[in-house]
Amino acid sequence: MGEGFIILKGLRKEFGELVAVEDLELEVEEGEFLCFLGPSGCGKTTTLRMVAGLEIPTAGDIFLRGERINDLPPQRRNVGFVFQNYALFWHMTVHDNLAFGLMVRRAPRSEIEREVGEMARWLELEDLLETKASRLDLSAMQRVALGRTLVTRPQVLLLDEPLNNFRPALREIMRGELKRLQKQLGSTMIYVTHDQEEAMTMGDRILVMSAGRKVQLATPRELYRQPNSLFVAGFIGRPPMNLLEVTYAREGDRAFLRKGELAWDVTLLRHAIEGGLRGEKAVLGVRPEHVLPVEEAERRGLKDTVVTGKVDLVQPLARKKIVDLFIDDTLIKMVVSSDFPVAKDDQVEVVFHPQETHLFDKETERAIYNGLS
Ligand code: ATP
Repeated sequence: MGEGFIILKGLRKEFGELVAVEDLELEVEEGEFLCFLGPSGCGKTTTLRMVAGLEIPTAGDIFLRGERINDLPPQRRNVGFVFQNYALFWHMTVHDNLAFGLMVRRAPRSEIEREVGEMARWLELEDLLETKASRLDLSAMQRVALGRTLVTRPQVLLLDEPLNNFRPALREIMRGELKRLQKQLGSTMIYVTHDQEEAMTMGDRILVMSAGRKVQLATPRELYRQPNSLFVAGFIGRPPMNLLEVTYAREGDRAFLRKGELAWDVTLLRHAIEGGLRGEKAVLGVRPEHVLPVEEAERRGLKDTVVTGKVDLVQPLARKKIVDLFIDDTLIKMVVSSDFPVAKDDQVEVVFHPQETHLFDKETERAIYNGLS
């Protein structure tokens, strides 16, 4: 990786007793679309506000293009940002809000009109161009806030849940459009969201945060395939990964993960497991799409422990169905094709795809391995 375009070093923010962001290290590449993802209150917005200059770090440094910018006021950082409190020019019309950034730059009138018109079309604001910002509904305010920033085509863009109040269909469209625009402009973007689907579809990389800390920084594919912790495993993927508490046991020169009557032979992985396990308690993880009907596992030549579950619920989707199964008293979900015959109270035999299971230490919650291959 090259020198980071935006670098955060030991970044920390305290609000009185509360540590909102704790010693964050991060390098954002030039032209990258980076998402901050995590539950409400984990410090995403506070981090973004520090990069924008709206919040002063308690400790640590922020570099942009190689320059330390801690002491620069927001307007001199040369970044475009859209935060949740839209701070529009309330007495001005939508048109003038959108035009403002270009007028400040003294862009020619014809260019301003063209850009504002294009942005208004794009964000479905055409009918509102002459409306005062103070009279807009929440969704329109958010669209104006986004348009007002994008119209200046900033090279660094900081966006805090910018599509929150969009109607669902427009939100879908705008995800793709924003990503296209970002690549077209070559902008470096940090995009805050608590929606994993949004982060997974838009981000080149994703920073997963929890309680003010970095948990994992990786591509969407890596987060899905190689979650470094139970937190990431549970946060990424819908329906979420199934997690079963198991006990690790050596028996002679063989090794097993046990849950009640069930046993998975993990002899080949015993060194990895013993290297990562604190005690004997572990959590076995398998995504619903990797819980396979036994016939399918056999067809694909995947041999492993056969688990019998009782069907509790079947939810049909367009081309798949989600099946809830009870294995003893543990509920797990599997995703199967819609033509797989299954009904409530059926007994179903399944195999956890042996190359797609994950193991975590129960105590530290860290991943021990991802995939048995
Ligand atoms: P959300 O999506 O809800 O905005 P977030 O991950 O962006 O969540 P932050 O808004 O960064 O989280 O907040 C992190 C923590 O800091 C929270 O506990 C929040 O209550 C606290 N916090 C944020 N701003 C302030 C402030 N100005 N004064 C005091 N506490 C604050």
